[in-house]
Amino acid sequence: TENRRIRSDSRSKEAFERAKRSIPGGVNSPVRAFKSVGLTPLVIESGAGSRITDIDGQTYIDYVLSWGPLIVGHAHPEVVEAIQRTAAKGTSFGAPTELETAMAELVCERMPSVEVVRMVNSGTEATMSALRLARGFTGRSKILKFEGSYHGHADSLLIKAGSGVATLGLPDSPGVPESVATHTITVPYNDLESVKLAFERYGEEIAAVIVEPVAGNMGVVPPLPGFLQGLRDVTTKYGALLIFDEVMTGFRVGYHSAQGLYKITPDLTCMGKVIGGGLPVGAYGGRRDIMEKVAPVGPIYQAGTLSGNPLAMAAGYATLKLMTESQYALLERLAVRLHAGLERSAKEYGIPLTINRVGSMICPFLTDKHVINFETARLSNAERFRTVFARLLDEGVNIPPSPFEGWFLSTAHTEDDIDASVEAFRKALSKF
Ligand code: PMP
Repeated sequence: TENRRIRSDSRSKEAFERAKRSIPGGVNSPVRAFKSVGLTPLVIESGAGSRITDIDGQTYIDYVLSWGPLIVGHAHPEVVEAIQRTAAKGTSFGAPTELETAMAELVCERMPSVEVVRMVNSGTEATMSALRLARGFTGRSKILKFEGSYHGHADSLLIKAGSGVATLGLPDSPGVPESVATHTITVPYNDLESVKLAFERYGEEIAAVIVEPVAGNMGVVPPLPGFLQGLRDVTTKYGALLIFDEVMTGFRVGYHSAQGLYKITPDLTCMGKVIGGGLPVGAYGGRRDIMEKVAPVGPIYQAGTLSGNPLAMAAGYATLKLMTESQYALLERLAVRLHAGLERSAKEYGIPLTINRVGSMICPFLTDKHVINFETARLSNAERFRTVFARLLDEGVNIPPSPFEGWFLSTAHTEDDIDASVEAFRKALSKF
């Protein structure tokens, strides 16, 4: 078939078959299975810088980067060294360490709205905990989220979600009780009018609006001018909290994250991915008066055996320290080069393409329509995407296996990597 790969993948196939016997679908997170692109996933042996190598011994330029965390590339020597040095002193204590405080100080310094921060173990935990806090703080139950946004897999947030949920076409998951789902209001991204209507109807019951300040789970969809400010205004007016889910955008789209870029101050911010430097980490933080409602200072409960884990703190701290302002400028230059190259290739072959990009988050949608929400993201030609995906793999380029995921760049990518990837993309488009 069209999607069969030319490169050898016999070991990956065998390993994946074996995995399926003891792991559901052979994976520990759904999109890894390559189900929607109809291929066997690469089973990975190692990574270094901008590259990954699979167990068939083939190397790929990587734009997945573990779905975002690896902003300094795979196995950065300073990150690896920090983890090793820390591990030698013990991997977990369940007691305070100075490293946690150093990390918290760094986050508070860089994330403009965050005065106090609590570490957790994943983005899912961050958003789940932030929601509980918002509900406990306001004494209200409803939350408002946007269609095609993904905020992890907590019950309240798994409604009309993006990412793997969208890729696999599972808009409402079985297992989420109706009684929970009724508290979640969903409206289209970038649609301030719908938000206002929802507040007119339910304003006194809404605890929080949770938003990806740049949507990254329906491809990449930047906020339209005025959208985030509008959310800030309407939540303030009704006494609801504004939660920025910066799990993907945090320390990714700029030195001061999306809230610095767009100059909007949310009440709470969720973090993950980059903040853990490739180890399992999430965090939530924000206004001191809200955060200090969390136990042990306040009554709202949230805890974690491994929260603030030394290895995770060491990896995250080393990563953030490497990401100086000039490194963000470097990422921007690389991203502009990729953006221009992809656009040029599409033009050359007359293939409809719309590229959305904010910094080093970039998504080429295979459509000529503007993509401003989930409905328009779905205009990306899925059939053509599958073909492009398979052809890129054959050319040694690994992109996310879904049109609803953005590509990421790292500071380890070089101009040569970009040029080789653009050439691969050009080749992939040349055969339609
Ligand atoms: N929020 C956003 C914006 C995300 O992109 C993700 C993961 N892609 C999450 C939350 C959930 O994070 P995790 O997978 O670490 O639970």
